[in-house]
Amino acid sequence: MEKVYFEPGFLPLAGGISKESRIAFAKYFGPKLYANGFLIDLLHFSHGENIQNKSEFEADIIKDLILDATLLIQQEAPRLVEGAFDPYQIFCLVQSGCDLFDSSYTVLCGEKGIAFNVSKDYAKTGAFSIVDFTEEKNKTDMGPLCSHCSCYTCKTFKRAYLHHLIACKEMLGFTLLIIHNMTEFDRMFEMIRTHLAQ
Ligand SMILES: [Zn+2]
Repeated sequence: MEKVYFEPGFLPLAGGISKESRIAFAKYFGPKLYANGFLIDLLHFSHGENIQNKSEFEADIIKDLILDATLLIQQEAPRLVEGAFDPYQIFCLVQSGCDLFDSSYTVLCGEKGIAFNVSKDYAKTGAFSIVDFTEEKNKTDMGPLCSHCSCYTCKTFKRAYLHHLIACKEMLGFTLLIIHNMTEFDRMFEMIRTHLAQ
């Protein structure tokens, strides 16, 4: 008789770029009673650095790669994807049945001097834009990073000051961009949840 564990755990569904391997993993792990969730391994498609065997993120290919496997696992169990994925990629992964993500993209961007804003129609299109504070055009811009954002960074500082901090490699600059990026990530997931609830 199979031993049942009661500790919470996410079971990994690996398989790389092989659809057959992913289905084999899903058939084996999918029915396990002790699974509180599943980790869909897509790290090599992420923006993360120092990743071996990195592959280009192509939404159609990833959907084809994971969709059959996700249908074989318990449907009510959450599916976690680890790695730095941008708003459009998360939009595509949600459409492919993924539920949980980490926020490493917000930090990865912030550390490069980059902020992002999701579009008003994000929940339908996945569109977002980038503000690169290493670009000279922000040097004299006295507007906020984002006019509709209520985060500490956007309410307190101008783009020109953020550009100055990033140019000087001041840690405060990277921290302020990460604060905005995390706020924007929260707003993005709120938009996704609202859209899915409709
Ligand atoms: Zn902000």
